Amino acid sequence: MSKIEGRREKVVIFDPPSSILVDLTRTADVIVIGAGAIGCCIAYQLAKSRLKVVVIEKTEPGYEASSAAAGMLSPRYDPAGHRPYFDLCLAGHQLYPALAEELRGFTGIDIELLQYGTLELFLDEEDEKEGQYLDPFQKGVGLATELLAPEQVWEMEPALSRTLRGALFFPKDRHVNNPRLVEALARGALRLGVEFLVGKPVTEILRDPSRVSGVKAYDETIQGDTLVIATGCWSNQMGTLLNYPLPVEPAKGQMVATESFPPLLNHVVASRKVYLVPRLGVGARGGAPLLIGATVEFVGYDKRVTLQGVETLIRDALEIVPSLGDKALTRTWAGLRPYTRDLLPILGPIPGMENVVVATGHFRNGILLTPITGKLIQELIVDGKTSLSLEPFSPRRFARGRT
Ligand SMILES: Cc1cc2nc3c(=O)[nH]c(=O)nc-3n(C[C@H](O)[C@H](O)[C@H](O)COP(=O)(O)OP(=O)(O)OC[C@H]3O[C@@H](n4cnc5c(N)ncnc54)[C@H](O)[C@@H]3O)c2cc1C
Repeated sequence: MSKIEGRREKVVIFDPPSSILVDLTRTADVIVIGAGAIGCCIAYQLAKSRLKVVVIEKTEPGYEASSAAAGMLSPRYDPAGHRPYFDLCLAGHQLYPALAEELRGFTGIDIELLQYGTLELFLDEEDEKEGQYLDPFQKGVGLATELLAPEQVWEMEPALSRTLRGALFFPKDRHVNNPRLVEALARGALRLGVEFLVGKPVTEILRDPSRVSGVKAYDETIQGDTLVIATGCWSNQMGTLLNYPLPVEPAKGQMVATESFPPLLNHVVASRKVYLVPRLGVGARGGAPLLIGATVEFVGYDKRVTLQGVETLIRDALEIVPSLGDKALTRTWAGLRPYTRDLLPILGPIPGMENVVVATGHFRNGILLTPITGKLIQELIVDGKTSLSLEPFSPRRFARGRT
């Protein structure tokens, strides 16, 4: 992504010796702050509607959570949870095949969208009961599931531990190569004329008396009609600049990856402790790394990989695939998920600041939710209405005095 660089316009008024450099103020229909998967998808969709978009990113596109993710696209229905959230996740899942085709055609980048399903393993009797309880709820909302006995699981995945008690299989779950997804969205946006200002943190939000008029990012001033906040787990800082609470916290996730080897697993396998994702994308050709994740830790903006984190992941992975023990560990990393207390994303205009739109707080499902978030925010900005209600996700729920 390093080739996408901020382009600085300077006007030389006098030649040396008395040269003065003056920054041109940029103008945009929409300013998007944050170039993770969410910000890049919003920019891409808005540019397709011929809006002039500037994306401002403090590091590089996709450098944070969006590249750290495991790429699982797994909508789940929680019977004690929130139906509109499930509908949002399902909509995200359904949009992926068309988006993958579109991005391949437009950018030449294959985001490696694959459907190999997830086996949610039962490690003990309690898991088994939980799986049996959840299965009819998943079917009830239209998700394909199969309850499998241990023998059926071993037939599908011979490398799995003989102590398993069965699994709930989600055959329609997909997987995407998330770093490629961000790259394709950013390249697509760039090709449609979106400007990326990279390496420039937004430090100030400018206001006319009644509305937000632009931002300052390092040495640049950008004026815009609409501002989109897509700053992941840093969104609380944007809330401070706006004087409106956007309580998003970082939830650290550590991951490890093995060397490439002939696939030992043909599905994503997950237990309540750990998941294993075979990255069987293009180029895998008989050998693929296995991603093992992920911790969930509330330790602030700390992205260090720790011995404890790695030890836990490896121990839990070996419990379900004992023969992994002789594989080489080739990579470790950590990313910061944007977590909200009610586990719901924050989507929609800020009350009283109608030209500021928030798209953040996607926590563990931000990659799954990328296509639907891009679509809904584009609809909101271009048409003033959305095909799925954003009301359940409104920033209004955090208004002072309500929480
Ligand atoms: C280990 C791990 C595994 C995961 N696995 C999955 C998975 O399998 N499936 C799934 O759906 N989701 C998964 N997720 C969650 C997913 O990665 C996130 O929900 C998603 O990436 C959030 O995207 P985002 O664009 O909002 O945030 P980010 O990718 O963090 O992007 C936000 C961007 O805003 C920029 N920014 C912040 N402040 C400023 C500022 N002041 N000025 C300019 N730029 C700024 C940041 O630099 C950053 O690039 C996982 C996350 C982790 C950490």
